[in-house]
Amino acid sequence: MNKFKVAIDGPAGSGKSTIAKEIAKIFNLYYLDSGALYRAFGYYLKKHGFDLHNENDIINALKSFDIKIIDGDYYLFDEKLDFQIRTPEIGKAASIVAKNPHVREKVNNILRKIAKNNGVVIDGRDIGTVVLPDAEIKIFLTASIKERAERRYKELIEKGENVKFEDILKDIEKRDKADSTRKIAPLKPADDAIIVDTTGKDIKTVVNEIKNIIVSKMNME
Ligand code: C5P
Repeated sequence: MNKFKVAIDGPAGSGKSTIAKEIAKIFNLYYLDSGALYRAFGYYLKKHGFDLHNENDIINALKSFDIKIIDGDYYLFDEKLDFQIRTPEIGKAASIVAKNPHVREKVNNILRKIAKNNGVVIDGRDIGTVVLPDAEIKIFLTASIKERAERRYKELIEKGENVKFEDILKDIEKRDKADSTRKIAPLKPADDAIIVDTTGKDIKTVVNEIKNIIVSKMNME
């Protein structure tokens, strides 16, 4: 396994997780989806009737919240997390709880513990700026909002969800705004991040672009 760290940040629908997974495979790195941890916590709060906006509820829930990562799958106690954390509703919940510093600390600790002993690719919003400021490679993915909404819409329709394009577009707009204007760990490229615009590009093209960045930065040729 390689030992370097790759941070891939960007807004919702920029293709982060698909691309991060591919990069992890190519370079034999451990893949971590930080958004899944915020989603898992939002899901946990909702499932147990906690109030997402109540600080005491969040602190109490954090005491019992536990997530295990086994072979790349995320488990909330015995429950394997999959489609149930991928809904627009849980995306919104994740974005709300992600504003809380205690929640961010918990998620960051989980991520850093794994990154300490492994080469990793982590995708999220603040990986290059906060979680792994020393990552050797920092990528910031962008794409036009229309294209990002189209990708998310297609993904959800393929999963059999009953969603409207206009709602997805509005949802992404709202999350972009919330994520980039929040006080703590806002969505923004690290000063040393390389910005990759994925508008109009397929996955293979973007993966290749990033692969070339890594190969040249890590002197792998
Ligand atoms: O990437 P994903 O859409 O799964 O993330 C869900 C939400 O979790 C984001 O909208 C954002 O509010 C939050 N998040 C975050 N920091 C990260 C990853 C996700 O605040 N590193």
